[in-house]
Amino acid sequence: MVKDIDFKTYLKNYPDDNGCYGKYGGCYITPELKEAFDEISNAYHTICKSAKFINELRRIRKEFQGRPTPVYHCDNLSKAIGGAQIYLKREDLNHTGAHKLNHCMGEGLLAKYLGKKKLIAETGAGQHGVAIATAAAYFGLECEIHMGEVDVLKQAPNVARMKVLGAKIVVVKEGARTLKEAVDSAFAAYLKDYKDAIYCIGSVVGPHPFPMMVRDFQAIIGIEAKEQFKEMTGELPDHVVACVGGGSNSMGMFAAFLEEPVNIVGVEPLGRGTKSGDHAASITFGSEGIMHGFNSIMLKDENGDPDAVYSVASGLDYPSVGPEHAFLHDTGRVKYDTILDEEAIDAFFKLARYEGIIPAVESSHAVAYAIKLAKQIKHGSILVCLSGRGDKDIDYIIEKYGDKYIK
Ligand SMILES: *Cc1c(COP(=O)(O)O)cnc(C)c1O
Repeated sequence: MVKDIDFKTYLKNYPDDNGCYGKYGGCYITPELKEAFDEISNAYHTICKSAKFINELRRIRKEFQGRPTPVYHCDNLSKAIGGAQIYLKREDLNHTGAHKLNHCMGEGLLAKYLGKKKLIAETGAGQHGVAIATAAAYFGLECEIHMGEVDVLKQAPNVARMKVLGAKIVVVKEGARTLKEAVDSAFAAYLKDYKDAIYCIGSVVGPHPFPMMVRDFQAIIGIEAKEQFKEMTGELPDHVVACVGGGSNSMGMFAAFLEEPVNIVGVEPLGRGTKSGDHAASITFGSEGIMHGFNSIMLKDENGDPDAVYSVASGLDYPSVGPEHAFLHDTGRVKYDTILDEEAIDAFFKLARYEGIIPAVESSHAVAYAIKLAKQIKHGSILVCLSGRGDKDIDYIIEKYGDKYIK
């Protein structure tokens, strides 16, 4: 347990100069990549803090992304549950249908300021690839997306979206041909090209400065939500809830509430159950370890390598988690809990049918937790980060769960 943290000044003090959140985080990269990461780090501290950059990003958020996204009171759902009141921060209404564009536009703008010509990224399910391809199109930059061959076949609609947006897809055929190999391939491409390109990570993970930079770009979620919630109700929410894959929508939501007297819960995917390989609940079942250039809490196999993970939500199945979540877990400031596939699917249909909102299956984990909590606590309010919309999940869910839910 880490003690005695002043959360009023927390965001100014964490990460430290080495990119660490307590013992987590850092920058474990090969010496060849150091120059490239130092450039991004320096640029972040100078360019991204300038009034010009901030104002331009603000304008993009308003005019292109459609921010601020609303906070919405789920009156029907709350009544049906008969407990606490559930509210949603509607990141599903952000352009491209999820929160990921918040940091991709920030990274794209930074690339533009640095005079880069190209954005390089990896993607698993393709959501991050689509957001980066969107940012590249907006800023007139080339875009190179590295994706495992298995994922390319599985995620055909997102591959098509990236191609329509003008991105080049690099199909990675090494190893298991999924996300891990795509990350390695993207890093290798970046190393070759870093004078002309910038690497854009998909969440609050990876070597410093990415966990900090992505958190800060995503922090707009919580900043808006806090103000909107206060305006709607005159108070702060009692509980704030978000799903945790790598941890970017949750960090963006939580950052503004860390200093407030609000319970904060991150929801991890429990998949089919607690057995290794059946879930991706990294904080709940993992231990300290280094992967993809940072120290955090990760799920390991018997050899200490990243364990196999599973979740119905492909955006959540990552065997580690952003280092700041590992730290906030150890401080006790944020609580982490889990939701099963079947609970998330049930919440997916409940939100669709009570409110007319089809949530991403990732976000459905947070909604499921809120529904459970609302029943338990009876009174008070729960503000959920609805990280994305569920259009991408409909075909799969109908195929797999249609018999149970569709008459
Ligand atoms: C990618 C994704 C997530 C998981 O990523 P985080 O970095 O944990 O936020 C959650 N929800 C949606 C809709 C996503 O696309």
